[in-house]
Amino acid sequence: MREIVLLKCGELALKGLNRRNFEEVLMKNCRRRLEDLGTFRIHSSQSTIYVEPMEEEVDLDEAVDRLTKVFGIAALTRSAVVEKSFEAVRACAPTYLRPLLMGAKTFKVEAKRSDKQFPMKSPELCRELGAVLLEAFPRLRVDVHHPDVTVYVEIREAGAYLHADQIHGAGGLPVGTSGRAMLLISGGIDSPVAGYMMAKRGIEVFAVHFVSPPYTSEHALEKVKTLCRKLVPYCGRVRLAVVPFTQLQLAIRDNCPEELFTIIMRRFMMKIAEQLAQKSDCHALITGESVAQVASQTLWALACTDVATQLPVLRPVIGMDKEEIVKIANQIDTFETSILPYEDCCTVFTPRHPKTKPKLEAVLEAEVRWDASQLVQEAVEGTEYVMLG
Ligand code: ATP
Ligand code: MG
Repeated sequence: MREIVLLKCGELALKGLNRRNFEEVLMKNCRRRLEDLGTFRIHSSQSTIYVEPMEEEVDLDEAVDRLTKVFGIAALTRSAVVEKSFEAVRACAPTYLRPLLMGAKTFKVEAKRSDKQFPMKSPELCRELGAVLLEAFPRLRVDVHHPDVTVYVEIREAGAYLHADQIHGAGGLPVGTSGRAMLLISGGIDSPVAGYMMAKRGIEVFAVHFVSPPYTSEHALEKVKTLCRKLVPYCGRVRLAVVPFTQLQLAIRDNCPEELFTIIMRRFMMKIAEQLAQKSDCHALITGESVAQVASQTLWALACTDVATQLPVLRPVIGMDKEEIVKIANQIDTFETSILPYEDCCTVFTPRHPKTKPKLEAVLEAEVRWDASQLVQEAVEGTEYVMLG
């Protein structure tokens, strides 16, 4: 018996003329995610994407698991494909559906017949297949209102498809259909979640991380790479830019009032990220900031960081509680890595009393007292890139 996976696109259906393009991107993303599992034929027809394994020994469980993390898919169904005859459906159904029906008390059959040439009409198909299953599983009862399992039989152009309930997809839009943005990723809990959330809106995520050796360790950088890898199932490949930030941080410490240290440092992060973003065609920055979580995330502080860049700054977790963010971090499996206790460059040289209501004029004044342009240039030029995933 041949098994395939059918994908139903979510919001894609709403996008009118763009739909074709969105489907193409989605299929490309699926191909990339399944690449190392074997050969698949992936094509679309009538708003459904077909994922057909072309080899016998493909791990379809793993393929389905990966596809549930690909944005742009609303639902997946794993189906048996048989010849377009009731005989073939009858022969396949009891064996194929056994694992599901064994544990169920009630079921119903639904039929869809897009090939109108097929001799049996839908009600007849339901009735006949229902009878076959009742005979094969004598303890089973029909319940058309609240069945434990619904069995679907679909008669399509290419064959007859047999499957049970759909699996929820990740939703959202295919990564790459909404442009590209640069995620400022720390080793913390919030920024990986922020990256995940924007990828869900179809944004391709490039990441940037600032390191301050020897104040931050190799372990801290490894941790960020691990976080990027954990985003790969959702974001696709993640390119990480690693920016040497030590000299700038030291200069800020030596030249700026202590209580403004964090805010000025964050402004430099924005400025450098903006330059890197422009080099790699990123149209926005993404951060994991959440209002009032720490001193550098009050409205006054955000106002100061915002104007450090011309690019829009996307902050998808801005209105979320830590608890809500942690929930997503657990769901995408970044939480355990995020809580590993390595220093981030934000936590070295933290002021004893950071200003929670910094005034932009004071910040700008502190910045013009010394010339940072050379150091910014060096940081940009010293940036190294790693491809993850
Ligand atoms: P997170 O949990 O994401 O670390 P946080 O609550 O610890 O966030 P901060 O440390 O103030 O908050 O950082 C705020 C945001 O600044 C982060 O969400 C991230 O987007 C960015 N950021 C902080 N440190 C770095 C870094 N070393 N490299 C790149 N971006 C960073
Ligand atoms: Mg942090």
